[in-house]
Amino acid sequence: MGERHPVPTRDPISGPRVMLKRLRELMAEALEPQERLDRIVREIAQNMVAEVCSFYVLRSDGVLELYATEGLNPSAVHLAQLRLGQGLVGTIAASARPLNLTDAQAHPAFAYLPETGEEIYNSFLGVPILRAGRTLGVLVVQNRTKRVYREDEVEALETTAMVLAEMVAAGDIPRIARPGVELDLGKPMSFSGSAFNDGVGLGHVVLHEPRIVVTNLFNEDINAEIDRLESSLGSLRISIDDMLSRRDVAFEGEHREVLEAYRMFAHDTGWVRRLEEAIRNGLTAEAAVEKVQSDTRARMMHLTDPYMRERLSDFDDLANRLLRQLMGRDVKTMAGTLAKDAIIIARSMGAAELLDYPRERLRGLVLEDGAATSHVVIVARAMGIPVAGQVKGVVSMAENNDAVIVDGDDGRVHLRPQSELEAAYSEKVRFRAKRQALYRESRDKPSITKDGIEIKLLMNAGLLVDLPQLTEAGAAGIGLFRTELQFMIASTFPRAEQQERLYRSVLEAAGDRPVTFRTLDIGGDKVLPYFRSNVNEENPAMGWRALRLTLDRPGLLRTQVRALLKAAGGRELRLMLPMVTEVQEVRKASELINREVQHLSRFAYDLPTRVKIGAMVEVPSLLWQLDELMAEVDFVSVGSNDLFQFVMAVDRGNSIINNRFDNLSVPFLRVLRQIAEAGERNNTSVTLCGEMAGKPLSSMALIGLGYRSISMSPAAIGPVKAMLGSLDVGELSAQLKDAIDNHGETGTLRNFLTKYAERAGVPL
Ligand code: PEP
Ligand code: MG
Repeated sequence: MGERHPVPTRDPISGPRVMLKRLRELMAEALEPQERLDRIVREIAQNMVAEVCSFYVLRSDGVLELYATEGLNPSAVHLAQLRLGQGLVGTIAASARPLNLTDAQAHPAFAYLPETGEEIYNSFLGVPILRAGRTLGVLVVQNRTKRVYREDEVEALETTAMVLAEMVAAGDIPRIARPGVELDLGKPMSFSGSAFNDGVGLGHVVLHEPRIVVTNLFNEDINAEIDRLESSLGSLRISIDDMLSRRDVAFEGEHREVLEAYRMFAHDTGWVRRLEEAIRNGLTAEAAVEKVQSDTRARMMHLTDPYMRERLSDFDDLANRLLRQLMGRDVKTMAGTLAKDAIIIARSMGAAELLDYPRERLRGLVLEDGAATSHVVIVARAMGIPVAGQVKGVVSMAENNDAVIVDGDDGRVHLRPQSELEAAYSEKVRFRAKRQALYRESRDKPSITKDGIEIKLLMNAGLLVDLPQLTEAGAAGIGLFRTELQFMIASTFPRAEQQERLYRSVLEAAGDRPVTFRTLDIGGDKVLPYFRSNVNEENPAMGWRALRLTLDRPGLLRTQVRALLKAAGGRELRLMLPMVTEVQEVRKASELINREVQHLSRFAYDLPTRVKIGAMVEVPSLLWQLDELMAEVDFVSVGSNDLFQFVMAVDRGNSIINNRFDNLSVPFLRVLRQIAEAGERNNTSVTLCGEMAGKPLSSMALIGLGYRSISMSPAAIGPVKAMLGSLDVGELSAQLKDAIDNHGETGTLRNFLTKYAERAGVPL
């Protein structure tokens, strides 16, 4: 062991500030990138009183390449290379942590690179170059003596590394990469999630909660910046306390927990100290937040504990909120600046927030959470946007404006795709567009099977934005209008007049095509933030929802029915009741509806010419009261989403078990057939309006089971109509009956049906 030399030959406070000032000047000067880099490392070495300063960049093949050095052999630049995890530099990059060593060569990870001539240096300080939690490279200083680098020097080097990260991201560094070498910054990444809505979208990333890009890095006045930080932290804490004291949050377990975690972080003294330290080193308050957050993310990304990783996302959100406070509120990407081909990436999102984006610019939606039947996905489906959900980790890895592909057919997302992949997907998009054009051509043609059976193809809707689709898709009418969507996107209960206005617009848009309005189906996963019961339901899907709720709160139902009756004056009104469990409920609702009709007629309102009342079949108990039910109603519609969940006991929002059971399996097909047969026996019209109606394979099966009317998302009408034209219903029905009844097989008939379609030349 040699002697130790403390080398405090510079002022510990002004040192980093002087260095940042010099870096700022160097970055502003008109220099060739390599020249700029060479001068930067020289500057850092001088300022840190180090004999060596080296800058390594991480390539996409996982190799760290020396890009500039002061002190090591200059001919080693671009030649000296280490793999991720190899040597001290590789260890820093892999762990995203600094290494501060008095005797570098004694470290077990030390790897000697002869071309650099570094054997004469003993002390070593290296820090990762981080941006948005990703490692872009490593910055190292070395000294011959076995000196100790102080904590404030480590901080200073980290701050410098942050500035260099901006340089890498700004495109300076890629310009000096050797031909054929790709940097890690632009590395393509693919993610697997679940397919929530069909279609392919190519475009550019728009982070729904955009990470704010800090451009003003260097501060002019430390005290002023610390004051700004403190005042913003104060506002942040108040806003979190406000959220926590809101009544609607106070009862909600998970949401509350997250906010409690925010509050804890916002008061965390370690965090505040690190922020202040970064400001003292010369950064603006914004840049300090970004730096500290980048360090935290890089360190926490290595954790495997899902709970801790979840907390990291919370911490990210919090840092983003603080940045917003510092930079003013209105930093959200909005219409004016939104890319023309925006692919929105979010952890989770409300339906209303999606509607804030202009439809014509949206090419896709990617969610880290969510379920295929969550509100935002239903709205996205209505808008015809491809959606991939449950795409874990994508928010951290995406940057605004990155090129991205969403494959809503298989739930995959490709960030910064390579050109071949992009070309392949562009081809897929062109192919789909051609097919779409064919569907448009056929939209006014009758929807008739090859053997002449007419099938009514209706569409599902719920918002004004859906209405143009009626004509575009060539739907025969609206088979399911989900009235709750208007309630879900509002911040208070929509007033009677607002409800009436919407219903009137829907009927006007539909012209003489029929519209089936479903009365409020709230509860379960359809939560209204402003309507809370204090009942904590363990199984909300089977709880106080839909008709059960509106029969208990007749004021709600009455207002809605009245608005519907008024809107439908002079024409037929079709009203459908959700989640009927027993016939008695239909009788009660019918009484209420009739009373409203009488009430309005007393006041001489223009009434509907006829009110037809229907029931959704989505609770299995109805299967044993179909005849009684059909005697009571004018029509029924099968809600296969809920019916499947209850028949199979499989939560429709739970991705772990969602794909385990198939709605084309024999037991479920038997259930569906039983309902179609009851309709025929009772001369009652039967429709099916769950998601399965929109898939050509399952709609083919439904027709084979006897369904003559199905309702689906508008985008599905074209493909289903194309399927119909080549279908011989007589032949399919016979074969399907045989498969369901005679084979002793109770598994899925998906294969059987696919093969049938292939043999019979039915396009799926
Ligand atoms: C269903 O359950 O199939 C249905 C159409 O209703 P929702 O998806 O709105 O519950
Ligand atoms: Mg339902």
